[in-house]
Amino acid sequence: MIELNKNYIDIIVDVPHLGDRGTFSYLPEEGKTVGDYKPGQSVRVPFGRKNVNGYIVGFSSEIDIDENKVKKINKIINPRPLFSNELLETLRLLADYYSTSFLSLLKTALPAGVDGSGGSQKIVIGYKVSLNEDDLIAKIDEIKSRAPAQSRILQVFLNSDIEVIEATDLIEIASTSRNVLYSLEEKGLVERTEVINRRRPDYKIAGRDEKIDFELNLEQEQAFREVSKSLDGNLNKVFLLHGVTGSGKTAVYFKLIEKVIKNGQGAIMLVPEISLTPYMVDFFYSYFGKKVAVLHSRLSGGERYDEWQRIYHGEAEIVIGARSAIFAPLNNPGIIIIDEEHENSYKQGSNPYYHARGAAVIRAKENGIPVVLGSATPSLESYYFAMEEQYQYLTLKERAGDGAMPDIDLIDMRAEIEAGNYGLLSDKLVESIKERLANNEQVMLFLNRRGYASFILCQECGEAIKCPSCDITLTYHKGINKLQCHYCDYHVHVPKKCPACSSDLLQDFGSGTERLETVINNKFPEAAVARMDVDTTGKKNSHKEILNKVDNGEIDILVGTQMIAKGHDFHNITLVGVLGTDLMLNLPDFRSSERTFQLITQVSGRAGRGEKKGQVYVQTYNPSHYALQAVLSSDWDVFYEEELEIRSKLFYPPFSRLVRILFKAETEGLIMNLVRKLKEFLEDKYDKEFYYLGPVEAAISKLRGKYRWHILCFFPGIKERRKYLPEIKGKIYEIISNKVDVSVDVDPISML
Ligand SMILES: [Zn+2]
Ligand SMILES: [Zn+2]
Repeated sequence: MIELNKNYIDIIVDVPHLGDRGTFSYLPEEGKTVGDYKPGQSVRVPFGRKNVNGYIVGFSSEIDIDENKVKKINKIINPRPLFSNELLETLRLLADYYSTSFLSLLKTALPAGVDGSGGSQKIVIGYKVSLNEDDLIAKIDEIKSRAPAQSRILQVFLNSDIEVIEATDLIEIASTSRNVLYSLEEKGLVERTEVINRRRPDYKIAGRDEKIDFELNLEQEQAFREVSKSLDGNLNKVFLLHGVTGSGKTAVYFKLIEKVIKNGQGAIMLVPEISLTPYMVDFFYSYFGKKVAVLHSRLSGGERYDEWQRIYHGEAEIVIGARSAIFAPLNNPGIIIIDEEHENSYKQGSNPYYHARGAAVIRAKENGIPVVLGSATPSLESYYFAMEEQYQYLTLKERAGDGAMPDIDLIDMRAEIEAGNYGLLSDKLVESIKERLANNEQVMLFLNRRGYASFILCQECGEAIKCPSCDITLTYHKGINKLQCHYCDYHVHVPKKCPACSSDLLQDFGSGTERLETVINNKFPEAAVARMDVDTTGKKNSHKEILNKVDNGEIDILVGTQMIAKGHDFHNITLVGVLGTDLMLNLPDFRSSERTFQLITQVSGRAGRGEKKGQVYVQTYNPSHYALQAVLSSDWDVFYEEELEIRSKLFYPPFSRLVRILFKAETEGLIMNLVRKLKEFLEDKYDKEFYYLGPVEAAISKLRGKYRWHILCFFPGIKERRKYLPEIKGKIYEIISNKVDVSVDVDPISML
């Protein structure tokens, strides 16, 4: 396999600050030859005066340093490569495309511990609680104020379905120390034991027994057949499956996966983190059993390690997971599916910046297999590629089963104000809620902002209260009587006087889900109301509990942020109200119309999933906006065509290739110095090769104590980006002070 003239082994050493400059040539260890090594193996090598881990990434025949200086490998850590050739190549191409670090991508693909730094042990220390549930609740209450850390640990047991919990997990979840655990042990409240089994995420919770309708309808069958052709012919092709909400895309995925498994291959299915509900995974577990592995960020370190091992050893052939599951060590992938492909969570917002969709397309090409991108509201980019016939376009225009598409109406909030209604809810929405409650039907109200009020303003001096480390107003959370920063951990008690001028004329403005819940409770005191947002779903099973209650009909009105927009198939929700539409439309981001269209379409899709027809009301001050008109007509072409025209005129993606270069530093002066030099360089060197904006202050000009500036580069195509971006990066590294952080984000999602 290895060419005979290769004498050196290329190894990227795990020394993070070196990044990709950390690739060095080594010689085989004593008694071995180059032929004894394989790409993807992890090795121990001497580096400087230390020994470090590294990954074999290739072989060379020549080196540009003195042969005598080349060191020998100490030993192989994992004889079986951690990365198959196709995965290694995928990661290499991905690093190149996103102009990001190969080393960071390699590390993103591995769970902690597999490269020899421990973690292979199957026996770990765990604890179980010695009290029954009632005593446990009483005990927590008793020690809550006296020993809060101890009570938090007990609370973890209370919230969990698992009997024995690993000590490290307990400490992490309760954010406390080992000593606290020892104290509980001494008191006899918890008992030390061992966890032996492979740690598997607990998805055995039985949901409803309802099965997907396995008879595909005509549209589903057609979609299935088109993708099947690629499966049969081992063809690499990207499909965009554009299906209205409720059209049964999951049934198509299911059939495709079933077919792939029968062929002896494996499947990767990515779903947004929030959709990884027990229902979703249970459904696949109930049919494919232990063939299914899940990978997502809420797993404990141990669970992730063991799920990875099950895939690596071929015990699991179906991987369901969030973003980084695209790098699962599947031996023989046959298909990659990305559900809700428009979701922003597929783009990693920190180093290494990459998009799971981009990774999927590359990996599928390496394997000669199809990719299916599914969505009711595809990203503009994917839609454009489909129209350009780079992707094959498949549509599902009918809902599967009984449900018809809901009726959608816009409510002009300007008319409400004229009529003297300054409240959050229009008269029509209030009337409609009353009707539904009277009919024992359920209601969903969507407001994509959490907290009680968006900010607190002093009416004397006009100052809004801001986070000291971020240039962001603090959000008022009434229930806990605190002001919180939604961008960092900062929170304070609500001050009685203005911090700037000591006036007590403080007033809150802007509404979030917490206020909406209060308003609803006051208006409909007889209704059972639940709220679902980040603040109410912090505990392990709280998300599931709320959904269960809605499902059982214990909840009449569900209020929530975008967490309620997708995935759940409730049959008795017949009314959906959308509030705060204008907040979404007016975000300082060129994708705000697209996101608004997607979110409203998604949340509207929750209405009328059962036999009764659904109604959606969208409240807005701007009813003529094309994104809302498109929602109204349920005609996606209208939206995509209009939006594409605007993007084309402004040279925004997909008509250009955008790169955002962000600078962060603790003082503005440090950045300004860099910005000045960079500006000169850009002006001197480039004329019409590409278009750029900046350097300018970012929309969030300060975050977690760091000042932020950015440049946006719009390249005409990938070719130009490949040519000019390395030049710009080179210049930046030449002039940058080590006190300034720089990040290069190719195809950025966040522009703030
Ligand atoms: Zn003031
Ligand atoms: Zn902050």
